[in-house]
Amino acid sequence: MSFFDNLRRVAEKSLAYSHCSFCGLARSEIGICDPCLSAVEPMGRSCNTCASPINSSQTAQSQPDVDSSCGQCLKNPPVFQRVITATRYKFPVDKALSELKFNKQLHFARSLSHVLERRVRLSYDNAPYPDALVAIPLHPKRLSERGFNQSELVTKHLANALSIPHNNALARVKDTPHQIGLSEKQRRKNLNNAFRLQKPLPRHIALVDDVVTTGSTVSEAAKLCLQNGVKQVDVWCLAKT
Ligand SMILES: [Zn+2]
Ligand SMILES: [Zn+2]
Repeated sequence: MSFFDNLRRVAEKSLAYSHCSFCGLARSEIGICDPCLSAVEPMGRSCNTCASPINSSQTAQSQPDVDSSCGQCLKNPPVFQRVITATRYKFPVDKALSELKFNKQLHFARSLSHVLERRVRLSYDNAPYPDALVAIPLHPKRLSERGFNQSELVTKHLANALSIPHNNALARVKDTPHQIGLSEKQRRKNLNNAFRLQKPLPRHIALVDDVVTTGSTVSEAAKLCLQNGVKQVDVWCLAKT
């Protein structure tokens, strides 16, 4: 191997490593260093279906180690199969995601996508991956204000890393006001007919969103997909509240 080949290899290797997007200090191939990863990755006990935290009074039941769904999911099962999340929506991830969206700190999309990719690989184990990844779209007005759709960035990363086709069938036709502080009923009302399908989808898909809170947005999108030939909808997100 020539001197220049060696030099190119060293250069390529250092390019693959970037500063940790959280502490900005250590360099890592996935854009987040080990100490920051151990700070953001733990999920605690979570619902097997919606990934919400299951509190300790619920875990004190007879079979604490058995995978289980929360009371809400048991009582009223969601239309999607389950939520897989990289992490919880709490400090420092909440701050990181607002930096991503409002200050164009796109490196957070990259590092948190890596964390989500790890979680997806673990969660599916030997189960088949979805046939396509579909980003939750922004309304064209919001997209032109922001310049990018963070969920689309995450979807592209995952499609690439996991070799799953990226499908942009879903469009947002209703500009929904901010959902923060609204009741579940009001959220659902705002989201009614918010999405449209522009082309067919395969049988099994994953909807990709940045943050899932009550799940009303992904439920509305999932419902539309299920009414149009999709048989299973999984939900992947960077953070679940
Ligand atoms: Zn770090
Ligand atoms: Zn649940």
